[in-house]
Amino acid sequence: AATSGMKRKEREFDADEGSGATNISVVVRCRGRNQREVRDNSAVVVQTEGAKGKLVELIMGPSALSNKTYNFDRVFSQAADQSMIFDDVVKPMLDEVLTGFNCTIFAYGQTGTGKTYTMSGDMSSTFGMLSDEAGIIPRVLNALFKKLDDEEIENCVRCSFIELYNEELRDLLAPDDGPKLKIYDDNSRKNHLTTVVQGMEERHIITATDGLKWLQEGSVKRQVAATKCNDLSSRSHSVFTITVHAKRKTEDGEDYLVTGKLNLVDLAGSENIQRSGAENKRAAEAGLINKSLLTLGRVINALVDRSAHIPYRESKLTRLLQDSLGGRTKTCIIATVSPAKSNLEETLSTLEYAFRAKDIRNKPQLNAL
Ligand code: ADP
Repeated sequence: AATSGMKRKEREFDADEGSGATNISVVVRCRGRNQREVRDNSAVVVQTEGAKGKLVELIMGPSALSNKTYNFDRVFSQAADQSMIFDDVVKPMLDEVLTGFNCTIFAYGQTGTGKTYTMSGDMSSTFGMLSDEAGIIPRVLNALFKKLDDEEIENCVRCSFIELYNEELRDLLAPDDGPKLKIYDDNSRKNHLTTVVQGMEERHIITATDGLKWLQEGSVKRQVAATKCNDLSSRSHSVFTITVHAKRKTEDGEDYLVTGKLNLVDLAGSENIQRSGAENKRAAEAGLINKSLLTLGRVINALVDRSAHIPYRESKLTRLLQDSLGGRTKTCIIATVSPAKSNLEETLSTLEYAFRAKDIRNKPQLNAL
């Protein structure tokens, strides 16, 4: 690795880092009406303030008195394009990764509202140039390697790409007959519990194009499986993780090594948690409710409430992301919604879930917001 042979020096962190304060920001992205919603004349019931504001209003009925208004760290309308989302939400997090934070970006929302469009979008590239429709992951890869090159930062970057369906993990970068993935705890590091996924492929990325290739490869695999099993695409989560080891310099020119991680998570459709089902354990166990999605909500709420017990262990997704949720980490939830009246119920429950994830007491702000 490029970083081998150098003296390891841990960076000293500010005293208040890792003090239990959560760093969760929550943004909303509302797409335009799709063809079906236009054809069905489904009214627009989600109102936002221009391309990016902070408020979203739901028109619940004929009387304005019944409208509901929510305040988020950022609310993007259909006028916000892929580059705006990247610049506002993702770029500041990428900088945090390079200072040694574990960061996670979730796309959460009803199926068909733009989670995959937001996370992956158009993954093609021509001579290293991305399409305007490129989503977060391709842009992260380009921006990361541009920064590493421009600033001549020695690095070792790896990625993994896994899918989680019915609490079973599948490696999207391994052959179909590859080993079954297993999660286990690693207690070898003092005071630091991490989970390890046994058998997981980790690919070394030397250029953004490499990373894009693995992303495309895994996405094709996900797509092929989804056409064979029709609820897989709406019920599965995918996690693309980029791990960066980088050699940085302190202000007085001393070298230190940082390791940061960025998890880019395209969650199962939020319709997989029925509101009535949220407390229904039996339905969850029968697979009627997505256990990982439900537990993720509980973990985030427990972090926001500063609970003594965070139920990481109750689902595979939260175990997988345990070292990236809570403590000295940053999380952003992008809640995607449809503007149409025909989806009002789901939009309401998406906004409620997202709103509960907001930290009211010690409201974190993304750097650029
Ligand atoms: P999900 O992953 O939430 O099920 P998709 O990302 O597959 O939804 O989006 C459904 C469709 O809507 C896709 O054809 C996608 O290209 C389109 N779409 C979603 N969001 C936007 C947006 N903001 N602008 C343009 N098209 C979008």
